[in-house]
Amino acid sequence: MDMKQKEFWFVVGSQFLYGPEVLETVAARGAEMAQKMTDGGILPCKLVYKATVKTDAEITQIMKDANHDDNCLGVVTWCHTFSPSKMWIHGFDLLQKPYCHLATQYNRKIPNEEIDMDFMNLNQAAHGDREHGFIGARMRLPRKVVAGYWQDASVQNELAAWMRAAVGYQASHEMRIIRFGDNMRDVAVTEGDKVETQIKLGWQVDYWPVGHLVEVMNTVTEAEIDEKMAEYHQRYDFATDDLATVRYQAKEEIAMRKILTREGANAFINNFQDLYGMDQLPGLASQNMMADGIGYGAEGDWKVSGMTAIMKQMAQGLEGGTLFMEDYTYDLEPGKEVSLGAHMLEVCPSIAAQRPRIEVHPLGIGDRQPPARLVFEGKPGKGIVVSLIDMGGRLRMIIQDIEVIKPILAMPNLPVARVMWKPAPDLLTGVKCWIQAGGAHHTVLSTAVTAEMMQDWAEMMQIECVHITANTTVEEFKKELFYNDIAWKLKNI
Ligand code: MN
Repeated sequence: MDMKQKEFWFVVGSQFLYGPEVLETVAARGAEMAQKMTDGGILPCKLVYKATVKTDAEITQIMKDANHDDNCLGVVTWCHTFSPSKMWIHGFDLLQKPYCHLATQYNRKIPNEEIDMDFMNLNQAAHGDREHGFIGARMRLPRKVVAGYWQDASVQNELAAWMRAAVGYQASHEMRIIRFGDNMRDVAVTEGDKVETQIKLGWQVDYWPVGHLVEVMNTVTEAEIDEKMAEYHQRYDFATDDLATVRYQAKEEIAMRKILTREGANAFINNFQDLYGMDQLPGLASQNMMADGIGYGAEGDWKVSGMTAIMKQMAQGLEGGTLFMEDYTYDLEPGKEVSLGAHMLEVCPSIAAQRPRIEVHPLGIGDRQPPARLVFEGKPGKGIVVSLIDMGGRLRMIIQDIEVIKPILAMPNLPVARVMWKPAPDLLTGVKCWIQAGGAHHTVLSTAVTAEMMQDWAEMMQIECVHITANTTVEEFKKELFYNDIAWKLKNI
């Protein structure tokens, strides 16, 4: 999906009360605002003025059209004037796409000399947006309310975050994940209800036998491998002479990509316990696929694979990396506590601080040959880690603010890519909250996608979301989890 080509519809609410002249002005201004906001360079997608709506029939028609237009990812409404909200009920009831209420006004300031009753008739967003907001609240519509002057960067940034969340909503509904093998034996947090996830998030999660992957690997030609090796040389440094091992990774990558393309999938999982007929666990192969936006989860973790693919779509064009990650070990020096994240192999180079190098080392786990992998350090920056877990009857998303730092140690004997970070509010409080919430060891780490975008996404998907920030305390966080448990049980009845 190229998000620049996607659009959001700007629908301005009004009524016939004001006469044609006012309605023409409202329409002209609505079109001007949408065009200027699109041209402003902050919004990641187009905002397209559609209509100034005045009747139940007009609103119903526009919501039906929005539902069926594949290029439209959501609807933004605003009331320049007053728009009686009963006429919005039918349309809102039908709307199946993300919805944002932009509470703004055309003019920034109240003009001292010019203000009279004509001005008041035309410029009454403060009044119109309240009537409009009531029906959203009354209908319990999932929505974002953005408030402020429409030309301000802060307002456009909030709208931009919501648009990126809506891109994630679309990506979620198009998600297809290929499972090369099952989940790792005995592990709980990587499990989940795939039917529930398809109903709630739109994901299709399908199994393909590893034997089928091996069959496709056996059809890969030397010429195809040569071409992939040229790509590796272009992207990475070779810190190994063992080209046969690297070529084997190329063969695995080519075969996995063929199956993903054939099945229309953009995410996959594998499991080091199920490599029947394969000589190496895919390392470099998985890493190079992730670098191109493909989702991945290790040990059969299809939930983190789907989230990685979605968040990579949301991150289009942003600085920073978005990747599958795993908390490994801590440095617990008092006051300077940090977490070291890595994986057996599969860390995406989108966060690499330097050009990654290809190395070959034994794995230490499993019974296969030493695999080729990319080794690098993560680039510093503010970010988040995100975990999606199945609570039994509902999904919970946990977001934690983090700061990725340059690793405090060189760790010359660690043969994998590494990312080091400080979680909010501090490592120990953060760990307590994360564990209380049931957050997984696998996460999506991003220094591109923000917590605001993920909160907007969770609301669109209608799933529980908790956020660990600089202000979080264990006491309050535990209460939130407790109240959420009750609320979501009621909500799911
Ligand atoms: Mn793992």
